[in-house]
Amino acid sequence: MSHVIAAVSTGNQISAIGIIRLTGDGCAEIAGTVFTLNNGKHLQEAPERKLMLGALHDKDGRVIDSCCAVYSRGPHSYTGEDTVEFHCHGSPAVLAAGLEALYIAGAKPAGRGEFTKRAFLNGKLDLTQAEAVIDLIEADTADAAANAAGQVGGTLQRKLAPIYDDLTNLCSHFHAVLDYPDEDIEDFGLAAYEGALRSDAKALHTLLKTYGQGRILQQGVAAAIVGKPNVGKSSLLNALAGYERVIVTDIPGTTRDTVEETVMLGSTRLRLIDTAGIRETADTVEAIGVERSKKAIEEADLVIFVCDGSTGLTGEDEAIIDLCLEHENAIALINKSDLGSKIIPSDLPFIAVIHTCTKTGAGLDQLSDMVDAMFESEIPCDGSILTNARQYDAIRRAYEAMLSALQGLKLGLTPDAVLTDVEEAMEAMGEVTGATVREDITARIFERFCVGK
Ligand code: GDP
Repeated sequence: MSHVIAAVSTGNQISAIGIIRLTGDGCAEIAGTVFTLNNGKHLQEAPERKLMLGALHDKDGRVIDSCCAVYSRGPHSYTGEDTVEFHCHGSPAVLAAGLEALYIAGAKPAGRGEFTKRAFLNGKLDLTQAEAVIDLIEADTADAAANAAGQVGGTLQRKLAPIYDDLTNLCSHFHAVLDYPDEDIEDFGLAAYEGALRSDAKALHTLLKTYGQGRILQQGVAAAIVGKPNVGKSSLLNALAGYERVIVTDIPGTTRDTVEETVMLGSTRLRLIDTAGIRETADTVEAIGVERSKKAIEEADLVIFVCDGSTGLTGEDEAIIDLCLEHENAIALINKSDLGSKIIPSDLPFIAVIHTCTKTGAGLDQLSDMVDAMFESEIPCDGSILTNARQYDAIRRAYEAMLSALQGLKLGLTPDAVLTDVEEAMEAMGEVTGATVREDITARIFERFCVGK
C-alpha cells in the first residue's frame, strides 16, 4: 500500500492552467472529498482518463475553483498507481488552497521527484528513463529536449539491454551448471562466450565515445577564455553575453576566479568560462585562479586565447600560448583592434586568428562563424547518446570490467575469476538502468530448468 501524495506539478507562477497531482492507493477517495463532479457522481465513478468538470472546494464546502479532474486507475498512469489530476486555473493562490484542502483530506506532501520515483519503483520507467525525465524538464534547446525525450522513450535502455542480457546468460549458465549438476543443462565453456563478450565491450566503448557529443548537447560547448590580465577577456564575455556579467576594471588580476556564462553564438551554445589572467604569481588567491585556468583549458572543448593587439606580444603571452597549443581546438583573438595592432595573425600559431574589438563588437561575427564551423556536427538527438556524467562514469566502469574479463579469458583464468569481472560490469550497468544483478541472474538460472520443475 502506497500512501497518497499530492503536489502542484506546474510550478509557482501565474499561468492559464495549473495542475495539482495526487497518486497512491485511495487517492480518488481523498480527492473526491474536495471535488464535486458537475454530473453529481463521485470522482471514483468517473470514467477512465477523461477530463471531468466540477468544483474544487475546501472542507467547509467553500468553492476554491471551477476546474476539471482526471482519474487514471493504476497501472494505467504515470506512476503505475491510481492518480488524480486537477486542472485548475493557474493562480498560485488557487493551487495552494487546493493543495491545502487535499492535505486536510489526508494526502501527504510529495517529496522531490517522488512521482517519478514511484513510476520507477512500480516498473513504469527504468532508471535511464527516470533520469531523462529531469533532463527533459530542464532542456533548454530543442535538440537537448529531443534527446531526453528519446531517453524517456527508452532508447538508451534498448542499447544496454542486449549487452546486459548476454552477460546475464553467461553468468546464469555458469552458476546453473555449478549449483545444479544433476540438471540436464548444456556444459559450460567460457570460450563459447568470447565473441559475445568482445562485441559487448565494443558496444560499450562506442556508447562511451558519444559522451563528448552528449555533454555538448546537454551543457553547450565548454569554451575557456584565456590570456594574461587586462587584454579584454571579461569584456569579451560581457560582449558575447550582451550584458555586464563580469566586473571589468583596468587593474590587472581583477577576475580572480572563473566566471561562467552560457550564450548562443551563431547556432552554437557556448558555456563561456572566463579564467583569471594566467601568469606566474606569488599572490595565493591569484595562484588558485591560475590553477583553475590551466584546469579550464584541460576541460574545455574550445580555448579562446585573447591578447592585446595595442601592446604587442610579451613573454607572458608566449607562456599562455604554449598552454593553449596543447589543446586541439584553440583559436586566438587579437583584441583592442580599435587601438591599432602591433600583432599580425601570422605571429600566432593557432588554427584561426581574428582581430576583435569588444568595445565596438568588430570581429565578433567572424568569431561566431568560426565557432559554428568548428562545432557544426550532426549530433543524433534520439536519446541514443550518453549525456549524463553519472551514467558516463558507470558505463566507463562497466567497460573497464569487460576489458579485464577479456584479459582474464586470454590469460586462461578460471571461469569464476572472469565472471567476477563480468558481474562487476553488470553491476555498473545496473547503476544506469536500475537492474538488480543478483535477482536477474537467479531468475535466468531457473529459466534454464525444464518447465514444471
Ligand atoms: P581582462 O583582465 O582580460 O578580463 O580584461 P578586461 O575585460 O577587464 O579589460 C581590461 C581593460 O581593457 C578595460 O579597461 C577594458 O575596458 C579594456 N578593453 C577591453 N576590450 C577592449 C577593446 O576592444 N578596445 C579597447 N580600447 N579597450 C578594451
